Amino acid sequence: MTLERDLLLASISDYLEQLGEEGLDGLETRPQPARPAAPESFPVSAENAGSPRPAAGALPVSPVSAPAAAAGFSGALFSPYPGLAKTCTLEELREFIGDCKRCKLAQYRTHLVFGTGNPRARLMFVGEGPGAEEDAQGEPFVGRAGRLLTDIIERGMGLRRADVYICNVIKCRPPENRNPEPDEVAACQPFLDRQIDLVSPEVIVALGTFAAQALFNERTPISRMRGQWREVRGIKAMPTFHPAYLLRSPADKRLVWIDIREVMKVLGLVSPRGSGG
Ligand code: SF4
Repeated sequence: MTLERDLLLASISDYLEQLGEEGLDGLETRPQPARPAAPESFPVSAENAGSPRPAAGALPVSPVSAPAAAAGFSGALFSPYPGLAKTCTLEELREFIGDCKRCKLAQYRTHLVFGTGNPRARLMFVGEGPGAEEDAQGEPFVGRAGRLLTDIIERGMGLRRADVYICNVIKCRPPENRNPEPDEVAACQPFLDRQIDLVSPEVIVALGTFAAQALFNERTPISRMRGQWREVRGIKAMPTFHPAYLLRSPADKRLVWIDIREVMKVLGLVSPRGSGG
């Protein structure tokens, strides 16, 4: 009995030592520093600013005490990158990623496309990966599809693009716009996970098949997934068509608008019965 107990203790001790070597940064418990104040141009929620609720159509930033951010660490307890979960702001995360060569896409990129927008946005859009224009400019969604996404945000939802946060699953452009490969997604997705935890939006919109399948870890086609709420890291997530697809199939803009209206309802930008907004 004593021998069994000793063996058990020894194996637990070995395991803990191994975790220590591999980086158990998910267990980091130091307090989360206060988030930087939102730029003045962003409408601020009553809870954050002590000011009256913004006018209809404005998108307040997410509360500082959003659960994932307040927890101070990524939901992924065993991060593949020691130190990743210790990044407390998007700037720190970008610095952590650095001149990344953690997967083979590094050799093809002009710019690493990290993400853009309000670091405390209530709404986050996640696409697949940078295309040619995004790679050239270092910003997500700046091509024709990006302009359509801006239209959805600004003309459809009545928000400003700067009020939301926009990024991709993959930060570097795959050659000839091929789909990212599983090892590339595995290498890059921890950065997206951390971005989600740091922004801690109330709603995520997954744009297109690849983003939805990567975020929800399922192989269902986007045509069957779209319009149905999912959850990512404790956050409500809506899959819908990618703007690039809508450029080829404009008739399906109608379906995207249905999905976006659902998102607007959750964010309080339109009445739940759909008559307001
Ligand atoms: S795709 Fe992601 S993991 Fe690969 S090199 Fe770029 S940033 Fe690094």
